[in-house]
Amino acid sequence: SLSRRWAAPPLFQLVLLGDSGVGKSCIVLRFVRGHFEPTSKVTVGASFLSQTLALQDSTSVKFEIWDTAGQERYASLAPLYYRGAAVALVVYDITSLETFRKAQYWVKELQKHASPGIIMALVGNKADLHESRAVSFQDAMEYAEKNGMFFIETSAKTADNINQLFEVLLEA
Ligand code: GDP
Ligand code: MG
Repeated sequence: SLSRRWAAPPLFQLVLLGDSGVGKSCIVLRFVRGHFEPTSKVTVGASFLSQTLALQDSTSVKFEIWDTAGQERYASLAPLYYRGAAVALVVYDITSLETFRKAQYWVKELQKHASPGIIMALVGNKADLHESRAVSFQDAMEYAEKNGMFFIETSAKTADNINQLFEVLLEA
């Protein structure tokens, strides 16, 4: 289990996958730096950040985060980032059905090629734009359940569920 894996040393690698523009970099920046950069630069290739999360029992966990680009031309690089990862976050934008379909592609790719013990979470980002919602909470949750994944909706803009996203992974 993940909790045993991070007992010593308390560190694990996490990768974000998903279509370009769904908010992967904004989620990471919100988690690591605590703010939202609406004009954050497009990720080229992948970028690396780390963040230590303090837990309620006064221990802490360190995340090493690979934020991938998501563009088609970098798809062949993705295995470099998810192969060693303990956790994969597959992110889509709740206002775009196309990005939800792309998320399902990533889930299949992970099921085929990632290490069998990898923990996967489906993340519906831009939850603040619920008036333009194109993917229902129910559909996404059912898909996640069917595939043995966590599911959460987040907003990097408002910070809604961002810390919870990382905390819930520790329950795995
Ligand atoms: P990435 O390509 O997946 O890394 O996406 P980015 O993090 O670069 O974000 C793409 C765009 O979506 C940017 O213009 C962000 O301002 C916007 N964005 C990211 N997260 C959110 C969110 O939670 N809510 C809203 N409304 N916009 C977001
Ligand atoms: Mg990015």
